[in-house]
Amino acid sequence: MPPGKLVRFAEQWGIGCRTGQGHARPSGRGPYRESAALYAGLMFFIFGFGTKRRNLGPGGTRSCPRCHNTTQWTRVREFKQFTVFFVPVARWQRRSLEVCGICGTAVEA
Ligand SMILES: [Zn+2]
Repeated sequence: MPPGKLVRFAEQWGIGCRTGQGHARPSGRGPYRESAALYAGLMFFIFGFGTKRRNLGPGGTRSCPRCHNTTQWTRVREFKQFTVFFVPVARWQRRSLEVCGICGTAVEA
């Protein structure tokens, strides 16, 4: 809900009014305390968590246990990552993998 709509909604129900008289305030200029709550809600989306893979270049030639093709696999490093404001602050569970270029099966290398 956009902040303007939220304030109008709040005024309609008499929420967040300092005087308790609802519409005494000139229109469009509120204290926007409801907006602060909205921004607090958005904060949750700024923290991120996920598994990332970084390409390390070509790996060895292997026979895939899943698709049974013999091709050159790709070496990747996989890690779990936690970000704040899109900046990584923690990485753990790092491991090296080789990935089949055809079906995407990953094997620890
Ligand atoms: Zn495969």
